[in-house]
Amino acid sequence: MADVTTTPMDAQALDEVVTFTSELIRIDTTNRGAGDCRERPAAEYVAERLAAAGLEPALLERTPGRTNVVARIEGTDPSADALLVHGHLDVVPAESADWTVHPFSGEVRDGVVWGRGAVDMKNMDAMVLAVVRAWARHGIRPRRDIVIAYTADEEASAIDGSGYLADSHPGLFEGCTEGISESGAFSFHAVPGMTLYPIAAGERGTAWLKLTARGTAGHGSKVNRANAVTRLAAAIARIGDHEWPVRLTPTVRAALAELAVLHGIDTDVHAPGFDADALIAKLGPAAALVEPTVRNSANPTMLAAGYKINVIPGQATAYVDGRMLPGAEDEFTATMDRLTGPDVDWEFHHREVPLQAPVDSPTFARLRAAVERFDPDGRTVPYCMPGGTDAKQFSRLGITGYGFSPLKLPPGFDYAAMFHGVDERVPVEALHFGVHVLDHYLRSA
Ligand SMILES: [Zn+2]
Repeated sequence: MADVTTTPMDAQALDEVVTFTSELIRIDTTNRGAGDCRERPAAEYVAERLAAAGLEPALLERTPGRTNVVARIEGTDPSADALLVHGHLDVVPAESADWTVHPFSGEVRDGVVWGRGAVDMKNMDAMVLAVVRAWARHGIRPRRDIVIAYTADEEASAIDGSGYLADSHPGLFEGCTEGISESGAFSFHAVPGMTLYPIAAGERGTAWLKLTARGTAGHGSKVNRANAVTRLAAAIARIGDHEWPVRLTPTVRAALAELAVLHGIDTDVHAPGFDADALIAKLGPAAALVEPTVRNSANPTMLAAGYKINVIPGQATAYVDGRMLPGAEDEFTATMDRLTGPDVDWEFHHREVPLQAPVDSPTFARLRAAVERFDPDGRTVPYCMPGGTDAKQFSRLGITGYGFSPLKLPPGFDYAAMFHGVDERVPVEALHFGVHVLDHYLRSA
């Protein structure tokens, strides 16, 4: 049995998590979505360090240079289900002129690691490496098999990353029933004196739509009652103005209930007339954890039509960024049919499933316990991610995903603004906290 009473997260582990975060940032894995990203040097970096810990990492590519790494740690209980721990190696672009330090410097300044990927998500990639290497030094094995996956292409379509792994290498994930990855268990400073740790148990689905309006092309000076531009503009205005109804998923309802109690608000989230918007209005900063996920959404983002001012085009197109809650996909498509109307066609340009993970599971309880052990004053709450992660792809293998990348951040540190933002950075102390929590959770899982 693994000994969960000792702490193998020694000085070397605490040093390594900082070094690994910094060095991974220095390996530029910018993913512009155009296929020019090269994760391979970062994949080799993590694979070498896994191999040095006695693991046998496999390097897997659908496209040359777009490298994924998968390794398995054998647990002590062969009857237990395996657990997937995954992190992506790519990052979104960064304009160095906008940054205080160079985004690919990985500079450690005043106890903070700076650079693109510092929170999304080379931090967790490094934490996992530091933990498994400490286990190797101390002869520790977890109870469950743990499959570690470092993926390419999360910041674009995942076609070269988790999508490829799920489709072409399902055997590597045999026995995995649950997974953990980014976007959860970071400290969120609500009202003064209250630190929350939202743990993700669900994701909205992606519904990127292409709209096409057709009409009669003709001279701009003539009467035209079938103008494609007018038809498209009307549909886009209806979509943009649409008030989506509240649809509470089990995760969001649980989040609202817990946030109400923590804020001393007396309400029954299960009552028939429960008003989610009224509760959210009383939550202060914590409203941000639930407001984007109580309803579907659809935001028009791109428009294109015409080539000359006196020529009415026969066609006009637009793109809409839609997001669908678990259980609300049919309503989303029916609403789009209605809002676009008879003169405008719409289709999914890109579609990804919504996810729902149970918050009353033993796994969720252990995730909470691991955080609260290392921050007894903090309070974990479930939440649903407004967007998506690689967990969507791994869900095809029957893996239930949780967002759990633990970080203890000081008040005033705007975690949400760090994601894809300028001056992305992470405190060294936060990385140390993450290593302790991950080690504890992964051994108690
Ligand atoms: Zn990410």
